[in-house]
Amino acid sequence: MGNKKNNARRVAIQKLAQLKRTISLKDNRLKEKDRITKPKKQDPNELKVIEKPKQSSALFFSYNTQLGPPYHIILDTNFINFSIKNKLDIIKSLMDCLYAKCFPYITDCVRGELEKMGQKYKLALKIIKDKRFERLPCMHKGTYADDCIVDRVTQHKCYIVATNDKDLRRRIRKIPGVPIMNVSQSKYTIERMGDSFD
Ligand SMILES: [Zn+2]
Repeated sequence: MGNKKNNARRVAIQKLAQLKRTISLKDNRLKEKDRITKPKKQDPNELKVIEKPKQSSALFFSYNTQLGPPYHIILDTNFINFSIKNKLDIIKSLMDCLYAKCFPYITDCVRGELEKMGQKYKLALKIIKDKRFERLPCMHKGTYADDCIVDRVTQHKCYIVATNDKDLRRRIRKIPGVPIMNVSQSKYTIERMGDSFD
């Protein structure tokens, strides 16, 4: 009795093995969904879609025609603070860096940030009260200046952004036609000036 059962089992196993051998999983007779298909090789020449911010018409030519001289420079909070720490006279240092007349701009939200920072930043507030610093009025709520500055330079290509903030610099670099200034080794340096935007 036991033998018979074992035999039957052996036959069943053999049949299954045979079946496996005859129908490979790549077989056309298998239904589409059951067939093993090789993953498609990625074509290195295939065009990839990269999202880029829309270019303003000012960038129709290969460089930003709306940039000065004279230059219009939006200063953020930490740029002002870094300048003070490095004992740099902001307006003089801007001109030393760009060899041209410069108009520094302070947005309401940057002023708001400085006001929030309290006593320690009194000097910064005093400096930007100078009437050579132009005010850029803000319509938005709150005092988060990064979004405000990014919005402004996306819409108007006439500005340079002065900031030492890594995050903000990274965001500005994605916007074509906007040079970035920062404080480095006790002077101002500029990147992306005269960039081509194609
Ligand atoms: Zn603002």
